[in-house]
Order: sequence, then C-alpha cells, then structure tokens
Amino acid sequence: MSGITLTNVTKVYTEADVTTKALDNLSLSVEPGEFVAIIGPSGSGKSTFLSIAGALLQPRLKVMIDGEDIATLSEKKLSYARLSKIGFILQTSNLLPYLTVIDQLLVVKKMSGKITPEDREFAKELLTDIGLGEKMNKYPHQLSGGERQRTAIARSFMNDPKIILADEPTASLDTKRAHEVVSLIAKEVKARKKAAVMVTHDERMLRYCDRVYRIEDGILTQES
Ligand code: ADP
Ligand code: MG
Repeated sequence: MSGITLTNVTKVYTEADVTTKALDNLSLSVEPGEFVAIIGPSGSGKSTFLSIAGALLQPRLKVMIDGEDIATLSEKKLSYARLSKIGFILQTSNLLPYLTVIDQLLVVKKMSGKITPEDREFAKELLTDIGLGEKMNKYPHQLSGGERQRTAIARSFMNDPKIILADEPTASLDTKRAHEVVSLIAKEVKARKKAAVMVTHDERMLRYCDRVYRIEDGILTQES
C-alpha cells in the first residue's frame, strides 16, 4: 500500500506535571489519488496529526508511509523519507525572498542532489499546471498571496512525493483565493495520484475533498 496508514496512534505530551493526550487512538488510511480533510477547532490535535503523518514526530506505533513502518527507521532514514516521500504545504508559503518562482521549486531538488534539465522541465510543467506559467521568473514580492501559495503547492509536488500534507493552507487567503488554492491542490492530487490530507478549520473548503473527518480532543470521527 503506497499511501499512508495510521493504526491506533496515540500521542501524549508531557510538560512539567501536565499531560495532554493530543491524539487518542487515531486510525486513518489514505490511498493514492484520495484527498482527505480533517477539520477541528484550535488545540484539537491537527498539527500533531500532521507531524506524525509527516514523520516529523516518531510514534512508537504504527504509521506506514508508502509501505514503510516509520517507527523502525533510523533518524537518517527518517529525514530521507521526509524529503523524498512527503510534500508539505503550510499556512504561509515560506518562499525564499531572493529566489524566483522556478528556483523555489528547483531548490528542493538541490537539497537531494543536483538539478537536471528534466527537473527544470518538471518544474515548468507543475507551474504551468497551476497557472503560474507567466510568473516563473518573478520574485515572491511581485506575486499576490494566492500566487505565493500556489508556488508553495507546486513546490510540494517537486520531489514527486507519494504523500501531500497541508496544514491550513488557506489561513492567510481571502475566500476567492482560498477556493482557487484548494481546488488546485485537489486537481493535482487527482492528476498525480497522491495520498493527500489537509487539516483546516475552514468548512467552505470541504467540498473539494473525498472524505471529511472531524477531530476533537484528539479523537477522530468520520463525517462524510
Ligand atoms: P491544533 O493544530 O489542532 O491546534 P495541536 O496538535 O497543535 O492542535 O495541539 C493539540 C494539543 O496538544 C493542545 O492541547 C496543545 O496545547 C498540545 N500540544 C501541542 N504541542 C505540544 C507540545 N510540544 N508540548 C506540549 N503540549 C503540546
Ligand atoms: Mg495547528
């Protein structure tokens, strides 16, 4: 199974004398080509979920990413898995101010080796797909907020990861741009057969997703 599977995952934070159960026996499976939403209020466990699904936090059991049990991976293999198998889209685009749009994508390739002509072609293809064909040589300050977030989406696909994880990708956008951005994520997830999860507290974005779950106090339940 090449998507992502979490089975009975619990995460407890302990800080001083306080323990918080951020995830309570959570199970979820997302297949390639599926776009799943998790909705929940602030503090419900959404970011903790993404940290575990994205192999930033290592649970004792049981998270399978692209057929690999991440609990058994060394720190080195874990960071390789993050780089090669997972694309992250965050609340703000986190673009580098001194790089052009196309270089924002190519820098990802540079981290894992050197940039080939095929990489450059793939970056152009992604940017054209996402409506930024005319903006490839612009700098972040020359783009709108929606265009910056679309650049971040294209960047998350650059390593051809199996999994796309989005943490409130519309948090800094107006309604029109938010719809644009999430519909583009949905389109690329389908076209490129990624297993994708978006956490959000924006109900309006759920129409683009195949399944919707709600998380409250770390407990996940399916809504539709
Ligand atoms: P959300 O993203 O839905 O706002 P989080 O996953 O960030 O929720 O947090 C879930 C719960 O875990 C909250 O009660 C939060 O205070 C707590 N929490 C999150 N991260 C930590 C941490 N590093 N240490 C201690 N408690 C944490
Ligand atoms: Mg959060």
